[in-house]
Amino acid sequence: MNCIILISSPGAGKGTVSQYIKDNYNIDHISTGNLLRKKSETSKEIKDVLDKGLFVDDNTLINVLEERLKKQKNDFILDGTPRKLSQFSLLEDLFKKYNINIKRVIFIDINFMIALKRIMKRKVCENCNIVYNTNINRCPKCNNILVRRSDDKVFLYIKRYLLFKKTIRKIIYHYKDKLSVIYNNKDLNYLYKEIDSLIKGDD
Ligand SMILES: [Zn+2]
Repeated sequence: MNCIILISSPGAGKGTVSQYIKDNYNIDHISTGNLLRKKSETSKEIKDVLDKGLFVDDNTLINVLEERLKKQKNDFILDGTPRKLSQFSLLEDLFKKYNINIKRVIFIDINFMIALKRIMKRKVCENCNIVYNTNINRCPKCNNILVRRSDDKVFLYIKRYLLFKKTIRKIIYHYKDKLSVIYNNKDLNYLYKEIDSLIKGDD
């Protein structure tokens, strides 16, 4: 079974890329962020950590991921892990146990100013809690008037971006032999073409 590890700078469009791969190729999507959020419904320990905006410890993360991988039969994209150096060996042991091969590591990057401009243009429906990137003024679902993201969201984004850039170097270096970089600085068509040439180039 093959795995593509997806790493993305904050705001570089990880959600868009994983959705596109899922829709167009026979590859599942496993997000450890989503797994943890789901798990937090039944685990108070995990809920407390997530509510504080912190990361769970490595063992908890790997256990939650293993629970999911036990059921996995198809090739898949993994997003959200590894995030720290301490997770490399745990992840490698886990993959060995389930006979999973890391086929490729895709790093989606974006120019900081382009990302910031996109974030500032985003509008949100406070009723449905959905974020929109388009120029519409009302929520297509509930017709509520959309509002711009607040300044603290923008500030939080800048903080996240800088922290990410500090930690990502070592992760990328670790996977340098399998690494491909996609820059999401242009439009969606360009992004999709890049993904296609990457994934088709695999076969
Ligand atoms: Zn709405």
